[in-house]
Amino acid sequence: MSSQRATDSKLSTKISMALLADGLDILPEPIVITTPDGQIHYANNVAMDLFQGQGNIRSSRLLTQSILQWLRPEDWTQISYRMQRAASYDLDATLCVDEVAKSVAVALRLLSIPDLDDMWLWRIQDLTQQRQQEANWLEQTAVLERSSRHMAAFLSNMSHELRTPLTSILGFSSMLKQKIFGELNEKQDVYVQHIHRSGKYLLALINDILDLSKIEAGQLLLEKTSISIAVICDESIQLVQQQAQMRQIIIGSHLDSRLKTLWADDIRVRQMLLNLLSNAVKFSEEGGVIEVGTTEKDGMLCIAVKDNGIGIAPEKHYLIFKPFQQVDESIARRRQGTGLGLALTKHLAELHGGTVTFESAMNQGSCFVLKLPIGSEPID
Ligand code: ADP
Repeated sequence: MSSQRATDSKLSTKISMALLADGLDILPEPIVITTPDGQIHYANNVAMDLFQGQGNIRSSRLLTQSILQWLRPEDWTQISYRMQRAASYDLDATLCVDEVAKSVAVALRLLSIPDLDDMWLWRIQDLTQQRQQEANWLEQTAVLERSSRHMAAFLSNMSHELRTPLTSILGFSSMLKQKIFGELNEKQDVYVQHIHRSGKYLLALINDILDLSKIEAGQLLLEKTSISIAVICDESIQLVQQQAQMRQIIIGSHLDSRLKTLWADDIRVRQMLLNLLSNAVKFSEEGGVIEVGTTEKDGMLCIAVKDNGIGIAPEKHYLIFKPFQQVDESIARRRQGTGLGLALTKHLAELHGGTVTFESAMNQGSCFVLKLPIGSEPID
């Protein structure tokens, strides 16, 4: 009777093993069952592919082999040490199949099946492709970092090399203009004025190009501080006031007194505002009116610079934020500009998490709105 029970028990174990093998066969990842000394008892189809290579004739020989032949000795030492002390162990290992090293993640589980010796179930995940992609990605990042460092060095050299001689040109032409060392004849006077004006234009162009290149190389970092909205608006207006007065242009401001401070890069906000204001002056007719206003919407500070100048034709609107685009070249040349101001302003606003938009109609004027997150000093 008891021998009958033993036979039944062995039979049910065999059936359970067959069912388990059937289930494991359809899994998409390699599964292997071994004895604790590494002798393979079962390998599903994907495991066969992994160890024997796809397309090879499936060999049941695999089932009589030891998994140790594909493992590095140090991985096996780890595995046997850990599995003697616990029922599971996960590790990253290397399998050597046909002299090719494969990176794998192995999850080992102890299988305790009644009437059978303990077995180990190996779930293997082939990470070779993933590791290769990670290595490629690291390599690309390193290349990018190297070229970004070169770009930064190039920009700072360029900046120094170009600005140094220009400073002399501007300084000496300014002295000649002021006639510090004596009178100039009429022609000399005109030429010196030209040299000085062209020098200033070149300096503005170099500064804008360097700023744009820095932004594009991801090298322009903002230095945010708490800045007074009223001070920054008033001081920017002051800077274009003389230019405006020369052409009888009036600049008024309507600043919302409830809006006190902005968490932003002081120099860059001034740069953006100055671009918008000097454009408003440049493209206004004599006797024009410019209004600067501030409002708040959804946590954003909106600074509007509105003029009643020449406006921009609708078919040219798409060009406005593109570098070196001057919509009406004849006017732009007469009033001097690099064609980079708005492209820079847009990039700088976006670096702050803001935007610049505009509305304009021919001969009716333009309204540019700079929107910046009001923000606040981060708490450490
Ligand atoms: P620029 O140095 O020529 O001012 P910007 O990038 O600042 O370069 O502006 C690009 C062009 O957009 C200008 O040349 C001008 O044609 C047009 N523009 C900008 N602001 C105004 C404005 N307030 N009114 C009319 N046209 C404008």
